[in-house]
Amino acid sequence: MMKNAAPLAALLALVYVCEGATFGQLCQGNLFNTPRTSDIFGQGSYGARRSGRTHKGLDITCGDGSEVYAPFDLTINRQLIVYTDPTKAAINKGLEIRGADLCVKLFYVDPDKSSGQVSKGQRLGIMMPMQSVYPGITSHVHVELCDKSDPTRYF
Ligand code: ZN
Repeated sequence: MMKNAAPLAALLALVYVCEGATFGQLCQGNLFNTPRTSDIFGQGSYGARRSGRTHKGLDITCGDGSEVYAPFDLTINRQLIVYTDPTKAAINKGLEIRGADLCVKLFYVDPDKSSGQVSKGQRLGIMMPMQSVYPGITSHVHVELCDKSDPTRYF
């Protein structure tokens, strides 16, 4: 009887670790939400330096034109305009979502809709053509918590 206790404990620990991540797969082709690391435009980590400011989000790698999925069961709060700069119009859309006790902004996503509920894993929209604005960058969805705190622990 007792000889099964250790494997069971190990299994439960594994399940716990796997469920520690609040965010499910965000982008088609990026099964484990691999973040943008470093490229010629900078780094994708929270707190990374930008010219005159710091990066308040976490960048998740996502190829141009890829489908973007609901990372958890969510409600769409609104569509976002990311940039007012007309030279960046090709990538200026995003979504504000809420779910899993979080409010999250997703940048550079052309949304299918701007309200309503979406189940985890269902399509939210399409990754916009980031290479057309930042040639050579690691194309990515920018994930930012509405309170600007660090989202990394949810991945
Ligand atoms: Zn970013």
